[in-house]
Formats: sequence, structure tokens, C-alpha cells
Amino acid sequence: MPIATVNPANGETLRTFDAQGADEIERRLAAADAAFRAYRTTGFGERSRLLNRAADLLDEDQQDIARTMTLEMGKPLKASRAEAAKCAKAMRWYAAHAEGLLADEHPSPADVEDSGASRAYVHYRPLGTVLAVMPWNFPLWQVVRFAAPALMAGNTGLLKHASNVPQTALYLGDLFHRAGFPAGCFQTLLVGSGAVEAILRDRRVAAATLTGSEPAGRAVAAVAGDEVKHTVLELGGSDPYLVLPSADVAKAARTAVTARVQNNGQSCIAAKRFIVHTQVYEEFAERFTVGMRDLSVGDPLEESTDIGPLASEQGRTDLEELVDDAVRHGATALCGGGRPEGLTGGLERGWFYAPTVLAGITPAMRIHQEETFGPVATLYRAESLDEALALANDTPFGLSSNVWTRDAEESRRCIRDLEAGGVFFNGMTASHPALPFGGVKRSGYGRELAGHGIREFCNATTVWYG
Ligand code: NDP
Repeated sequence: MPIATVNPANGETLRTFDAQGADEIERRLAAADAAFRAYRTTGFGERSRLLNRAADLLDEDQQDIARTMTLEMGKPLKASRAEAAKCAKAMRWYAAHAEGLLADEHPSPADVEDSGASRAYVHYRPLGTVLAVMPWNFPLWQVVRFAAPALMAGNTGLLKHASNVPQTALYLGDLFHRAGFPAGCFQTLLVGSGAVEAILRDRRVAAATLTGSEPAGRAVAAVAGDEVKHTVLELGGSDPYLVLPSADVAKAARTAVTARVQNNGQSCIAAKRFIVHTQVYEEFAERFTVGMRDLSVGDPLEESTDIGPLASEQGRTDLEELVDDAVRHGATALCGGGRPEGLTGGLERGWFYAPTVLAGITPAMRIHQEETFGPVATLYRAESLDEALALANDTPFGLSSNVWTRDAEESRRCIRDLEAGGVFFNGMTASHPALPFGGVKRSGYGRELAGHGIREFCNATTVWYG
């Protein structure tokens, strides 16, 4: 895959980059290693000052970097601005909370009495240089949610970003440099995926984090396993969205539209499978379909646009194949089902797909098991909570889940039985710095954000005094 900015709204190549060669990679590995030796001894106060400075710079740059993201991967400009603002907020959150999250942990004296210790506690130390292999869908956020805790913990970072967002990748390296982080603390590697294995095997890389597809995750985890290096994987999802009889159906349907099409439908935590109790199915299906049909599809640089193009031509082909397979096997498109009509001014060459609702999904269809990375929703009718839960769990993924109910017993069942890293009631899944984020099953392992995220790349060291 070439390292290039190609505008997905019209297919125009805006900039191309040469991949860094072996000498440049070696220089950056050496710089990361040297930086770690000094940076690991800095205090939380100094790290906070630098990270807060990065947040301030990001706020100042918001308009420009938002436009770059939109030109590289096609999300609406307003969504790009919101992403930049969210990143600055997460940086400030970790700048304020990291010291507390990594404070020494002292077990109660009674618990360790028989260990023979006069004193014992857990002390968190950084691991070293962490390789981050990141995707294009939230090109700032996916990186910042790794970088902010990693840097606050005293680690150094090497970013291998997706090949279609090189300008955002370079911006991130520059941002941390301008904020005053010592040289080598956070660097961008402009390399293709073929270079990842050798970098990960290098003794100066301690661990890796990857967000992306299952094949990419499997490849990186296999190498890391061979090298006995820690990994965190976040590999996408096919989140269920349950609407039960006591739900506020109008609100559930309105929220469902945003939950499905945020980021042009290319979000790992987007609700993708809408499982609706038969008592409220007709009303929900009607409202949801109208909401999806009314979205404005067009130039992502226009403020009024709700849905821009998919990030790549291949992404659209993959989505088309999933929808076509479903329709061939008997699914009905309540709206959409193909490319939008009427786009002009070059947009007809962009990788757009119309917001689509598919009903009548059966297990024989690929879409029942595979992730739809675009504005396509699948609708299921369930006769009972048991059937809804069984459908919700009938997927290889387990990232998050959404439930609309006002019934306490139904809520309890959902918390107990939904196989996912999150259960969101009467709202859509979102990530927040103070709450852990990650999945089970094929959605990956490990957690990002909150205390869980910052401790992933720490050495929890037992300190014992006789
Ligand atoms: P990929 O998983 O291929 O890309 C994500 C990152 O992994 C990129 O930096 C990519 O580099 C790198 N990568 C890919 N293959 C390897 C490998 N074998 N070894 C090391 N690194 C690798 O995502 P795609 O862009 O191809 O998207 C395909 C599908 O993945 C989507 O349709 C969606 O289902 C899922 N996905 C999920 C995301 C999520 O948020 N969880 C985000 C993006 C995609 P390079 O760009 O150079 O290939």
C-alpha cells in the first residue's frame, strides 16, 4: 500500500511519501531507546507540563489538523474538529490523573503479615519503548489514547500509522516535539506494514499496541508472542443495539442513526446490529429508516454534510460485497442498498455509499457474522429477551453493546449475559478517558484509557522489605 494522502471524496492523490528505509528506522529506534533511559526518571510534574502543552497546541491547531484528517480519510469536518477537541481533553485528563493512577499500592498489613515483610507495596515503572500500530478511522484519537497514558507513565512511543493518513501521522510526531518532549520520546515511523515485524522483534522495543483489523492484530500478536512481548489489541466489533418493550422508542431510533453512522459508519464501537423486540419492532424500524434516509451525503468539507465517503475504494468494495450477499440471500433494503445518486463536481468519483438499513437477516448471510465498516445497519426481530441476548452474542466480536430498556431486571440480565467489554443503557457507546475501553472474543484483549489503560504498559513491581 503506497504511503499517500488520497482524498476519498474524489479519488485525487494529494501527496505521496517515500517509506523510511532501514537506516532511518535504526536511527529512530536508537533515539527512542536513548530517550527512554533519561525520560523514565522524569517526574509526573514535568510530564504533565509537557502533555498539557501538547493539548494547548492541539487546540490551537484544531482547524488545520481537522481539515487534514478530513482530506485524508473523509470524515465530516465537524467530526474531525470534535475528534481533535476530544484528544486535547484526554491529554489533560491523563496529565491531571496519571500520578494518582500510578501511585504505589499498599496491601493492608494483615494481608501480608505472613510474608515476613516489614513493609511491602506495588510500585509502577514504565516498560520502555512501545510500538503503536494504528488505523486511519480516528487518526488522532486512536494514537492519543495510547500516547497520553504511555508518555505519562514514562514510556517512549513509536507510531506506525496507517499508510493512508501520513500527514496526520507526521503532525503527531511534530506535536509532541513542539510541546517540548525530549527528542526520541514520541516519533512517527513512515513505513508500510511489511516493516512492522522487524521493528517489533528489535530488542529495543518492549511492547506493542494495535488497533485495526483481525488479520493485522493476529500478525502483530504472533510476532510479539514469539518474542514474549506484551500486546494490547483492539480489533473492531459488531456491536448489538437492543431495543426492548419498555424503551423510549423515538429516542432509541434517533440515537440509533448517530450510533450507526458516526464517522461515516467506520467506527469499531458503532452499533451495527439492531435487535428489536417484536412489540416495538414496527415503530422502531419505521423511525430508524426515516432517520437514515434523511441524512445528507456529500462533501465532508461542507458543514451541512452528515456522511462523507468511505476512506478507501477497497473499503467500499468490501461493504458492497457484504450487502449484495445479504440481498442475494433474501435480505430487504428498507433504504439505501447501493451508491448514492446525484453527486456532482468530482464527488461522483468518491467512495460514497448510501445509508442503508437491511431487514430479514439470517445466519446464512456473511453480514450476520462479519463487521460492516460503513453506514449499513442490520435489523433483527426478537420475540423475547432471551432471543435478543442469543442474537446479540451470536458474533465473533465482543467490543461493546447497547440496550434500551427501563426495566431493572432486564438491565441486570444484560449486564450478566452480554459478551462485550461494555454495556451502555439508553444511550450509545462512547469512549471517555475515565472509563476503560476494550473488548473480549475477537475484538481483542487488554484495555485502553482510565487506570487500566495506563497500567497496561507498566511493570507492576513488588517491593518487599524484610
Ligand atoms: P488494517 O488492520 O489493515 O490496518 C490497521 C493498521 O495495521 C495499519 O497501520 C496497517 O498498516 C497495519 N497493518 C495491516 N496489516 C498488518 C500486518 N500484517 N502487520 C502489521 N501491521 C499491519 O485495517 P484496514 O485499513 O485494512 O481495514 C480493514 C478492516 O479492518 C475494516 O474494514 C474494519 O473491519 C477493520 N478496522 C477496524 C478498526 C478499528 O477501529 N478497530 C480500524 C480500521 C479497520 P498499513 O496501513 O500500512 O497497511
